[in-house]
Amino acid sequence: MRVGTVEMTVDAAGMRAQNSSLLLNMIWRERQISRAEIARRTELSPSTVSAIVADLEHSGLVRSIGAGVSRGGRRPTLIGFCDDAFSIVGVELGATHVTAVLSDLRGRVRAHRHAPQAVRDDPKGTLQKVRELVQECLDAERVPKRSVVGMGVAVPSPVHPSAPGKLSPLIVPAWRDYDVQESLKSAFGLPVFVDNDANLGALSECYWGAGVGGEDLTYIKLATGIGSGFIIHGDVYRGSGGTAGEIGHIAVDPAGPQCVCGLRGCLVTLIGSGPLVERARELMGVKGRRAPTVRELVEGARAGEPAARQVIDSLGHYLGIAVAGLLNLLNPAIVVLGGEISSVGDLLLDPLRASVRKRALSTSMAETRIVTSALGDRAIAVGAATLVLQAALRDRSFFPLQHAGKSA
Ligand SMILES: [Zn+2]
Repeated sequence: MRVGTVEMTVDAAGMRAQNSSLLLNMIWRERQISRAEIARRTELSPSTVSAIVADLEHSGLVRSIGAGVSRGGRRPTLIGFCDDAFSIVGVELGATHVTAVLSDLRGRVRAHRHAPQAVRDDPKGTLQKVRELVQECLDAERVPKRSVVGMGVAVPSPVHPSAPGKLSPLIVPAWRDYDVQESLKSAFGLPVFVDNDANLGALSECYWGAGVGGEDLTYIKLATGIGSGFIIHGDVYRGSGGTAGEIGHIAVDPAGPQCVCGLRGCLVTLIGSGPLVERARELMGVKGRRAPTVRELVEGARAGEPAARQVIDSLGHYLGIAVAGLLNLLNPAIVVLGGEISSVGDLLLDPLRASVRKRALSTSMAETRIVTSALGDRAIAVGAATLVLQAALRDRSFFPLQHAGKSA
């Protein structure tokens, strides 16, 4: 794809800022590239490219990394992106845990903290826990706040673009009087970006996981809640009110149980973690008085435990009903399953694919791969950090102006 130059519709400073972001994005994507090649691709003058590169070098985002291969003349000096110039904080608020990561500008995790937390019922304690875990990550790597681009936060709720800090009173009523964005912004003095957890799982998979190199991906988070995120043409698709992807509230059994959302027979009432482990407990009969944990369910399925296998089969069956509809509607290149239960791999993928085959148009399925995530339990927190990275690579002004450097 040729990257076009910016039209002369903005003033000189605005145009320079746009070109600066354009170059920064290109150098990040290519990892290393010569000034001459940048000038060729952008059709900017060599002196403009040199001036912008010098400015990016001054801010610590890029650096000269030696000579590249000659195309006839003298060997060009390559410019490389500095992945460790700044750090990004990523936070995942799960239903029952908080995860915080400190990542570099290439999605690599430098520090990681995880703690159980009753997120849905205890907003105050949750925000306190986030502050603790984030501070621990910063302290562990001795990263000062001035070296942090910002903080991304994944929440288990739809997020309305006009009020990203407010969670859905329908899904998490205890958060009615809280604003995640404002609270963390005032605690850390950093830009804070909030998005739905499944959206950020999708972003994570697109940048670093199963969807690298592609632009159309669907991610499905299987946990206490069931959510999905769509990457369409390389961007998260959020819908008009931020509710796109609420696959958990698709009715798959009109006569099914009542859902927290007020509807009946929603997918989440059948395959959310709660109903799954409860079903396993029932199937285990007298010997299983306590419901197993999701981890125990995974281990049981792997060991061939019939009750666990049956629960995973039914998960695949019901999920397949929703995924078949999704393939018919969106026809993504890849569907990635995340969440702890997805670690059973083929034990889930086989019944899921069979269920989808029965219901999706063959043309919807033909070029779609259905896979499980390989990013593990940090995927969504890393996706939250990726949201900040994506914003900063598109608008260079999100990066702190002066290179703050890393303390020893
Ligand atoms: Zn529902």
